[in-house]
Amino acid sequence: MTRSAIISGGGIGGLATAAALGQRGWDVTVYERQPELRAAGSGIYIWENGLRVLESLGAYEEATEGAFHGTHFEQRDNANNIIESAPIGADKRLLTVLRSRLLSSLKSSCDRFGVKVVTNTETIGATARGELILSNGSTVRADLAVGVDGVWSRVRQSLGLELVHEQTREGALRTMIEARPGDFAPEDQGKYIENWNGMRRFLITPVNATQIYLALTCPNDDEAARGIPIDKALWTESFPQWAHLIDRIGGPASWGVYSVTRARQWSAGRTAIVGDAAHAQPPNLGQGGGMAMQNGLALAVALEQAQDVRDVPAALEAWEAAQRPLIEHCQRWSILYGEVTYLPDEVRSRVIRSAMSDPYIAGQVFKAANSEPTGTVAPQR
Ligand SMILES: Cc1cc2nc3c(=O)[nH]c(=O)nc-3n(C[C@H](O)[C@H](O)[C@H](O)COP(=O)(O)OP(=O)(O)OC[C@H]3O[C@@H](n4cnc5c(N)ncnc54)[C@H](O)[C@@H]3O)c2cc1C
Repeated sequence: MTRSAIISGGGIGGLATAAALGQRGWDVTVYERQPELRAAGSGIYIWENGLRVLESLGAYEEATEGAFHGTHFEQRDNANNIIESAPIGADKRLLTVLRSRLLSSLKSSCDRFGVKVVTNTETIGATARGELILSNGSTVRADLAVGVDGVWSRVRQSLGLELVHEQTREGALRTMIEARPGDFAPEDQGKYIENWNGMRRFLITPVNATQIYLALTCPNDDEAARGIPIDKALWTESFPQWAHLIDRIGGPASWGVYSVTRARQWSAGRTAIVGDAAHAQPPNLGQGGGMAMQNGLALAVALEQAQDVRDVPAALEAWEAAQRPLIEHCQRWSILYGEVTYLPDEVRSRVIRSAMSDPYIAGQVFKAANSEPTGTVAPQR
């Protein structure tokens, strides 16, 4: 018997969840409020765990075609000295891709598994009976409903699941620039480079051979630094070594705040929440999207145990019990990493250096990247 699922939100998490359910024979419909599926932001880091999810959904090749595969993640201080340069082993791949490409690769998987996507359709509420209430006045119902509708999730709110929804003190301007030969010194090739100066951060991320994703991070109340159009003179003053890249800024830019969400439970009856709706985290570890995709796949796998619609609530509870510890671990460490922003430069450098050279702490930071996501297999190497 075909089981039916309805999903609110066609972002990274929503499409991954939809594809994973479709792949397992569910009849899936995604309701997205925007007129078209559109990714907010520029580039995105995807660690080993997220890459394995993409492999398992058949989206890996399309998502990562031409992607940048870095060898080191490097932090530098206000004088451009290297604080720490962590090699990224083959067992813990990290690729950076265009968000638009990631989203379209997940959409292709959805298409292959027969998922229907309905745009221009906003969810305004949900019930524990597997129902989504839409702004056009109708209510849709299925064996399973899932809210993957982001940090302001109406599904989470209307089910009374919200425990925490707060914004941290930081945010980031995100933009893309054209890559040019000579942008990086020979010793800087193949690296992701995060530069600190006071409470401002400048993160340089190649995403393919022709484009570089820049994230300019600062506290929310640093009005001058967070302004759009980006104040190039101000950012050059903070990061003079990268003047040649800052000078090239001119395309669309967006300001994204860092949010944290936590829910009492990830489901009520036959309705679940996934992704930023349930467990948003600041992007310091580059894992919010990875966790959204990983958890969507895990949900679909857990529901393989539900033979009958009456089994869905118990399967959702088992899914949450299995997945929540790792996801909350990742959330905690991502929040903790952000705290170094508020240390004086010299103290921050010492803290990062000693923390990241401690195998226990490095293990905690990379625990999610090193995890074996449910429903995936380790690639043969
Ligand atoms: C500055 C910044 C950088 C980041 N960098 C990374 C990174 O490098 N790597 C990483 O893994 N993660 C990163 N993240 C986190 C990542 O973007 C999120 O964790 C991820 O997008 C969550 O996916 P989602 O599908 O749960 O939510 P979203 O991506 O927010 O998608 C939600 C979707 O639901 C739709 N929607 C919302 N409300 C409704 C409604 N009421 N009805 C219908 N549809 C609705 C929205 O239009 C959207 O399409 C970053 C975040 C920020 C802010």
